[in-house]
Amino acid sequence: MNDLALIKGIGTSTITKLNKLDIYNSDDLITYYPYRYDILKKTNLFSDKVVVVGIIESIPTVNYFNRKNRLSFRINIDNKIVNTIIFNRAFLKQHLTIGKAVTVIGKYDSNKNVLTASDIKLEDIGDITKVFPIYHLIKGITSKNLNKYINLALKQSYVIDYLPEEIILKNDLLNKKEALNIIHNPVSSDKLKKAIYRCKYEELFLFMLKINELKNKNNLMNIGYSKNIDLNRIKEFIETLPFKLTPDQEKTLDEIFDDLKSDKRMNRLVQGDVGSGKTIVAIISMYVMYLNGYQSTMMAPTEILAHQHFENMKKLFSNFDINICEILGSTSKKEKEIIKQDLESGKIDMIVGTHALIQDDIKFNNLGLIITDEQHRFGVNQRANLRNKGNMPDVLYLSATPIPRTYALTIYGDMDISIIKTRPEGRKPIITKVKNNSEIKGVLLKMKEELDNNHQIYIVSPLIENEESDDEDIKKLYRKFSLAFKDRNIGILHGKMSQKEKDEVMNKFLNKEIDILISTTVIEVGVDVKNATMMIIFDAYKFGLSTLHQLRGRVGRNDLQSYCVLMTDRETERLNIMENVSDGFVLAEEDFKLRGSGDLFGTKQSGDMNFKLANLTKDFDILLKTKEDSNMILSKISEYPLLKGLLYDSINKD
Ligand code: ADP
Ligand code: MG
Repeated sequence: MNDLALIKGIGTSTITKLNKLDIYNSDDLITYYPYRYDILKKTNLFSDKVVVVGIIESIPTVNYFNRKNRLSFRINIDNKIVNTIIFNRAFLKQHLTIGKAVTVIGKYDSNKNVLTASDIKLEDIGDITKVFPIYHLIKGITSKNLNKYINLALKQSYVIDYLPEEIILKNDLLNKKEALNIIHNPVSSDKLKKAIYRCKYEELFLFMLKINELKNKNNLMNIGYSKNIDLNRIKEFIETLPFKLTPDQEKTLDEIFDDLKSDKRMNRLVQGDVGSGKTIVAIISMYVMYLNGYQSTMMAPTEILAHQHFENMKKLFSNFDINICEILGSTSKKEKEIIKQDLESGKIDMIVGTHALIQDDIKFNNLGLIITDEQHRFGVNQRANLRNKGNMPDVLYLSATPIPRTYALTIYGDMDISIIKTRPEGRKPIITKVKNNSEIKGVLLKMKEELDNNHQIYIVSPLIENEESDDEDIKKLYRKFSLAFKDRNIGILHGKMSQKEKDEVMNKFLNKEIDILISTTVIEVGVDVKNATMMIIFDAYKFGLSTLHQLRGRVGRNDLQSYCVLMTDRETERLNIMENVSDGFVLAEEDFKLRGSGDLFGTKQSGDMNFKLANLTKDFDILLKTKEDSNMILSKISEYPLLKGLLYDSINKD
């Protein structure tokens, strides 16, 4: 419901602006949290960072040059007249009227008597320490204004506290309205911490409530069909493979077979490091389904990965009478119609495609198994939806995000977990080196050597968060490397490209039409470019170890020696771990210990695992508490109709 219009002091033009910030109702508004705070205490003019209060003495003048503007005016600070300038705040001019007291933050040059301001607060902060909430904004709205609207909403609208009273008491939490008041109008950092804790607690509590409820629901919907495991025929197939299965692959298969044999539905997550060989485990499971007369499907997050799986399966099953097909965006309408008919009639045994394509309107004859590759990209609801497809199919998820076990048990509490740790034999560890930016010459020489050997190279640059121009750095690198390697084909890949454009570039790289691929972290997970033997990651310090490990896993995909160079001009202690450790689980543990240095899910948590305030990695302690509390409340959820309503709304929502 759009109740913003009911708040006195918020008019239609403000609502339009708020909508641009994805604020559509009072609840959105009061939970639009500051992303940081300015903590200010008055100083004198001669300290390093100046925070002074002064009275405006002259009408500000604005100068424009290039894309910048500069505002200049005089202020009176304790009877001293100081020239003040500030860049790119022309919009402040109308507020800086003669006689007004303002607080100026910046640097003072006593020789020139110029105060260069980095910020100006339109008030006298007085002698106390003052805390200003700073929000993510769009043009036409300031943090101060937004804060005003939030306070209007806090005053006038009813704040729903979803946490049961007993949970609040048990954990000594603030009540929600009080917490929100503090978050938006903090006075002390102690209180603020408590308020933030409280709001994170609610977010994580609701998340765990949902996970626990899904787990219960899965147990209820658990009756599936028992399948026959014909070990002889399975062995026959495994013997046709060009390699021997690793012990962990075998163990995982045993766990899957046990699931399939029982009349309990499988709901299993296979976690394994990049390159650990999860795909073949999935394919063998599909073969078991085929032997039992069931259809199965493999879904991947991108077309290129789906296609790679398809090619792989076609090859592996070339001597078997299995009807495999793929469905892609480029599949013609006519072909799609035929595929749909054949799926419905049961003519097709296995189908590979992207989630979008398979999930929609396809009907199966007797779908027995759904496999979803690179599972970490999907939220809790998507998990639930998959299981509702067809007639009680088994579900297998593959994920390359190795996360610590206790952690996995919590956030994937609704699934069983298998882990593949051992890597296929004959793989050489990727030689990893941390290099200072000044050592780039040596790196270029190594690159040349690899290229001369007809190998390919990935270059990765971090995405600039909250920046519109995430392709800027990429373009810069492109220019640099084009100069260094004039006779080589260089491709770029970044988040602003459409999936189709990305797939095209990736295909060119796969077909060796591109020698060097420069990319943000969007390079697709899972795609197997065996000939790529080197990766250079710029500003490596910006990534968590798990993310670096995921990226690095894109090289070293066959028996060639591969290299990974981590370029940085900052802290190397943490990065040095990468030189010696090649086990993704160990690195994830390290990340976990160093909480705050990155996120086990990369920069973005997916779908409904996205929180406004909490972070699944960093706030794990809170998560554990909410796990217990949510279980307790769930057992008597009917006593909490409000919470129950919210829970079922959120489970049934797509
Ligand atoms: P991921 O677990 O990252 O999805 P893949 O399943 O794509 O890894 O496997 C990576 C590569 O390793 C593939 O080329 C695959 O054929 C190969 N592979 C898988 N299992 C083994 C094994 N037991 N021995 C040797 N190579 C293997
Ligand atoms: Mg894979």
